[in-house]
Parts: sequence; structure tokens; C-alpha cells
Amino acid sequence: MESPISLSRLHADIDLRVQAIRAGQPRWPCARGCAACCRHLADVPQLTEAEWRLLLQGLATLPAERLGQIGRDLAALDNRQQRPIVCPLLDRSTNACPVYAQRPVACRSYGFYVQRDRGLFCSDIEAQVTAGSLADVVWGNHDAIDHHLASLGDARPLSEWFARWQDGKAAARQQSASLSNDLAE
Ligand code: SF4
Ligand code: SF4
Repeated sequence: MESPISLSRLHADIDLRVQAIRAGQPRWPCARGCAACCRHLADVPQLTEAEWRLLLQGLATLPAERLGQIGRDLAALDNRQQRPIVCPLLDRSTNACPVYAQRPVACRSYGFYVQRDRGLFCSDIEAQVTAGSLADVVWGNHDAIDHHLASLGDARPLSEWFARWQDGKAAARQQSASLSNDLAE
């Protein structure tokens, strides 16, 4: 049976494909701050636990007010049917991802990978594909990415991971407060 690859190995594979495409196309548009894709997500991002643990390292550096806003935006999305959506993590004032180094695999591969039977390009890249200017690009195989991600375990919505994290922090604060009260008595 094929053994699952680690998230860091999957990142390294994606980085290799991205570097190869960039080497042949120096003006490739994908970069932090080019966020049309972050503003047109088909749904709330889904992450495996390994992706969530990495993302958490980035989220933990954000100010409490920002985390509070992210939590409220995620909760609002759970009750909203309308799609596409803007990623709740996106900093709308700078158009930049605040957790770019820790972003999920879908964000790393989008723009460089395709699925054979579905065009999943952003409109900027789609326009170049249609114009024929990217005819010699060797795209990454998104089916392979999905296969590797599936081997890492179930994916859950970002809203669920985030709510669990916040609930865990609230429970820890409550426990700490009640311990302090016990010691003071
Ligand atoms: S996929 Fe499209 S919108 Fe997203 S970073 Fe790349 S060029 Fe920009
Ligand atoms: S996690 Fe970051 S890169 Fe991914 S969609 Fe959200 S803002 Fe964009």
C-alpha cells in the first residue's frame, strides 16, 4: 500500500512545480497581494488537520481583534448560502493573506495546478490560457494533490477548526481563572 506523504513533502513538491513554471514564465501573476482568487472562493476553505496545525502557527501571531473579526466572519458564512465568498482570513485593506507562509495546500497550488476535466483557473490565468500564451506550461496535476491530501486524513471547514480552537482557549481561560480563585480562597 502506498504510504501517505507528509504535508511538508507535499509543499516541497508543489514548490518545485511552481518554481519550474515561474522559471519559464517570469511574469507569472500569482503573488501575495494578488487576491482575486481569495475573493472568489467556491466555499469555506477545507483543511486537513496537518494543514490546520500549520495555519494555526500563523493565526496565533495575529492580534486578538483581528481573530475576533475572523471568527465573526466565519460564523456569518456558516449561515449564508450565497457563493462565491471572500476568504475570511484575507486582509481586505492590503489585499494580502496574513498567513501566507502557512496557507493551505489549495491556496499554494491554485493558479499552477489543474484537474484534467475541470478548468480551475482564476480569470487572469484563464485569459492567458485562452489567448494561447501559456501553451507550453507543464501544469501540476491537481488530482494527485487531492489524492495526497486525502491520505492525510479528513478535511474539515476552516470555520469548524477555528471554532474548536477558540472554544479550547476559552475553556483554558476559565480553568485558569477558577484555579486562581481556588488558590485565593
Ligand atoms: S490564482 Fe489568479 S488571482 Fe490568484 S494569485 Fe494567481 S493570478 Fe492572482
Ligand atoms: S488562506 Fe490566504 S491565500 Fe488562502 S484564500 Fe485565504 S487569504 Fe487567500
